[in-house]
Amino acid sequence: MPGGYVDKILKVNLTTKNVTTEAIKEDVAKKYLGGKGYAVYLLYQYLKEYERRGLSPQNIDPLGKENILIFATGPGTGVPRFPSSGRHHIMALKAPLTGSIGSGNAGGEWGAFLKFAGFDGIVIEGASDTPVYLALVDGKAEIRDAGELWGKNTMDTTRALTSLVGGKNTSVVCIGPAGENLIPMATVMNDEYRAAGRGGLAAIMGSKRLKAIVVSGDQKVPVAKPEEFRSVADRCLDTMKKNPVTGEGLPTYGTAILVNVINNAGAFPYKNWQSGVMPDADSISGETLTKDYLIRKRACWGCTIECGRISSVKSGPFQILTAEGPEYETIWSLGSACGISDFGAIVKAHQVCNELGLEPISLGSTIAAAMELNEKGYIPAEDLQGWALGFGNAAVIVDAPWRTTYKVGFGKYLALGSKKLCELYGHPELSMTVKGLEMPAYDPRGIKGMGLAYATANRGGCHLTGYTVAPEILGIPEKIDPLITEGKAQWVKAFQDFVSVVNSTVNCQFTTFALGAKDYAELLSAVTGWELSEDEIFKIGERIYNLERVIMNRLGVDGKDDTLPSRLLKEPMPEGPVKGHVVDLEKMKEEYYKLRGWVNGTPTPEKLKELEIEL
Ligand code: SF4
Repeated sequence: MPGGYVDKILKVNLTTKNVTTEAIKEDVAKKYLGGKGYAVYLLYQYLKEYERRGLSPQNIDPLGKENILIFATGPGTGVPRFPSSGRHHIMALKAPLTGSIGSGNAGGEWGAFLKFAGFDGIVIEGASDTPVYLALVDGKAEIRDAGELWGKNTMDTTRALTSLVGGKNTSVVCIGPAGENLIPMATVMNDEYRAAGRGGLAAIMGSKRLKAIVVSGDQKVPVAKPEEFRSVADRCLDTMKKNPVTGEGLPTYGTAILVNVINNAGAFPYKNWQSGVMPDADSISGETLTKDYLIRKRACWGCTIECGRISSVKSGPFQILTAEGPEYETIWSLGSACGISDFGAIVKAHQVCNELGLEPISLGSTIAAAMELNEKGYIPAEDLQGWALGFGNAAVIVDAPWRTTYKVGFGKYLALGSKKLCELYGHPELSMTVKGLEMPAYDPRGIKGMGLAYATANRGGCHLTGYTVAPEILGIPEKIDPLITEGKAQWVKAFQDFVSVVNSTVNCQFTTFALGAKDYAELLSAVTGWELSEDEIFKIGERIYNLERVIMNRLGVDGKDDTLPSRLLKEPMPEGPVKGHVVDLEKMKEEYYKLRGWVNGTPTPEKLKELEIEL
């Protein structure tokens, strides 16, 4: 077996309570690595088996027993000195919010500790009749009763299980009441402060009555060429330390460093994307966070960047002793998107989201859409029951997570997510979503590559899959003009393929500000013992992205879904440095499909053959 793996995948059927293990298949690992890639491979095998049994993929209920949930690490996870390697990836055949593939990635400790417990990944099938949790301790797995944990928030659940299991390197991934209540924007929390799972992956856990997975152990992850690895890893860590983003910007200000940067570029969506300029953005910036709210920094396991924040609100109506973050995307969704500049309210609302296990990007975007619907008079007064749902009302964002989780008052409408909410009130054009997933924090009218990235991201309106903000705004690895469309397809494809690899190794995407495919090829070659080149890294990423797209196609997604909300295509930016701009998507899409070897959003048989994807 190559280095980097502990060579055990756990399979748990919650209906039959059957627990089995299987070894990593080296031929599959060579083609798909681990993490997202290996999970996509496994999901495709389930899909084929369902089709063989006559179950159409399009009829799979995201909250039904047939949905499959996979927690996966990769050959870079849990390897000391492999940059930022405490992460894990979660995938599902169908996400409740979008009805298409589910995908999420989180830091913290859990990913590394899963490997120390003796497992590379966990595949969850079926559904339990009663609440359960999984305990994975020193290579053994048990399904245990979670009756007393059901109803608890994510913090209490984590603390209860950590103390109950004890032992070395103990870590908990769990759901809160939002997941239990099957809210389609419920997120999976781990280690009290990290979240994975846009699109409602926690609701899938809720539907399976799986409250948590606790892991503990001290198994070492083998490295094939230790000396070679140490030398490559040291060089990479040094490069990251000297890089202005990973060595200075993120460690000093956290991800919130982007607030002023993106606002100054005129691409910080304001009041449900009616503008790209927030007049008082500095009051919710990374600089303000650091000056007025920061208690200390926090790093995920094995990370030298340390972008995490622990904050506190010491005065005003939204006081809170300690809270995680908030991150840039949350500051945007609960702040600028809703026209709110009260940082205390954002910190508090974010912490409430974490405790309830609710995903703040989708929640904030849904609130913003509801605010615009209300502003334009499209919501009947009786539905609001006196709730002052207006842009700028900070109390709304602190109140909304509770209302949404427990479907209280207008919360039952927010719990639908932005797409269904706007459809319900007859104005789907006000939903700022792609494939049903709310887009975050970067207006592509001012960063054109992001328009193509949002439109073609497999999981929907995702900023992480093809983060062209790096070259278009930050000038990494080189500065390109954010307002032209030419050449953007190539950048988007390259990012999507490379990030697919990083999510499969599984390491933090922020390393890519400093490290390239060549660095990853060298790190992976030394850890696994395989000889991987830079070209092979891109080919593996392209293979993963294409197989994921094949699954999407089977679920009914194609070129018609690779699009953007009409506001971005037709409404010129009304003010700021990119005033007058819209996104010319079709031109970029045509170039992108050509580069990908896709027709109408579907990989051609020739492309699949070239990538050695066996259907
Ligand atoms: S860069 Fe931030 S999110 Fe990434 S692993 Fe490090 S601390 Fe975690």
